[in-house]
Amino acid sequence: RLKVDAITRRFDGRDVVTGVSLSVAPGQVTCLLGPSGCGKSTTLRIVAGVDRQDSGRIIVDGDCVSDDERHLPPERRGIGLMFQDFALFPHLSVGENVAFALDGGLRRNRERVGDLLERVDLGSFIDAYPHQLSGGEQQRVALVRALAPKPAIMLMDEPFSGLDNRLRDDIRDRTLAVLKEENTAVLLVTHEPDEAMRMADEIALMRAGKIVQRGAPYHIYNNPVDRAAAAFFSDIN
Ligand code: ATP
Ligand code: MG
Repeated sequence: RLKVDAITRRFDGRDVVTGVSLSVAPGQVTCLLGPSGCGKSTTLRIVAGVDRQDSGRIIVDGDCVSDDERHLPPERRGIGLMFQDFALFPHLSVGENVAFALDGGLRRNRERVGDLLERVDLGSFIDAYPHQLSGGEQQRVALVRALAPKPAIMLMDEPFSGLDNRLRDDIRDRTLAVLKEENTAVLLVTHEPDEAMRMADEIALMRAGKIVQRGAPYHIYNNPVDRAAAAFFSDIN
């Protein structure tokens, strides 16, 4: 379980994230949803440990990984990351990419790697190279690469951008299925309401550095906290 407790971040004297608190349970997807520039990526970077909050705490499975005194680096937080620029290593095969963070590499983990690739319908690509795959296929490889070390928590920042609409829906659904099977706690950042409606168990609506409303997708959709929230949801098709 991930707990984010009252994190705050200023850049050049300007508050970008103000008192953001979140909680994500195993097997649950929480979407941090809001317009461009509201502080979503900054929040995610702080949770990942690639940036540091000015105040507040991050707690992973009951252990504090970051507060005023302590700051664990990203690789020691038990967190998987999938960002928009998910680049695979071009000189490694698909299987080697997926096994990258596993002890013993592909040789020792061929079964788990093969199983993960099967689950995104790429089992036959284990010995192929990234340039032989389409963009959507590469994105699925990046997903299972992030999942291979069995992170309890997965952070995703706009992971489905750059795909055409039909492909994106398909990859969203497959991704969600694998994350649920692995019982991963997911914090997903998006500025697209329809993506949040499709994927979230809970939406945290963010504006100008603050969470202004949280709840189940249809609750927020049907009971927007104010006019701006209603307008934000109104472009869903
Ligand atoms: P988008 O949907 O466009 O990705 P976002 O919600 O992810 O937006 P952030 O990337 O978190 O927004 O940025 C929030 C604000 O903080 C922006 O105004 C941005 O310019 C500013 N900002 C982010 N990182 C830095 C930094 N390292 N130094 C100065 N300002 C920054
Ligand atoms: Mg962003």
